[in-house]
Amino acid sequence: MWRCSLSVKISLTLKEGKYLTFMYRRQVEEDKRATTTTLAKSFKVNPATVTETLQKLAKKKLVDYTRYYGAKLTERGIIEAQKLLRKHRILEVLFVKLLNFDAESACEEAAKIDHYCSVDLINAICQTYEHPDTCPCSKKIFRDPTCIKGWC
Ligand SMILES: [Zn+2]
Ligand SMILES: [Zn+2]
Repeated sequence: MWRCSLSVKISLTLKEGKYLTFMYRRQVEEDKRATTTTLAKSFKVNPATVTETLQKLAKKKLVDYTRYYGAKLTERGIIEAQKLLRKHRILEVLFVKLLNFDAESACEEAAKIDHYCSVDLINAICQTYEHPDTCPCSKKIFRDPTCIKGWC
């Protein structure tokens, strides 16, 4: 079943990752649709480019893409987006707590590198700050069972 394949690593390009987290924020956290137009505006690209990226994500089974309607994250897409947002938000915690960044600059800096951080690095930071539940802008930080295990 697909659940077993969760451990299989999906390779995402930087751009695909940004689409997933953007769509997650819209679809799950704001309960809005991420239409092609919204994506095009937010990434400052034309709708054809958005469609191309969405089709790639659909091939990886991360989004359901329907022509004219737009796209919705699949369950798998939601999990991948949460993994990326966890990295982003854990980095924000680090920048604010260790370096005294304000939440906004922490977010900006985190967005530049989150995609490239390994889970091990993020787990190490997460453990240092005792597995924070929320980021500096009060968004939820998702748990990673491999991080908590053997620690709490
Ligand atoms: Zn943790
Ligand atoms: Zn945040």
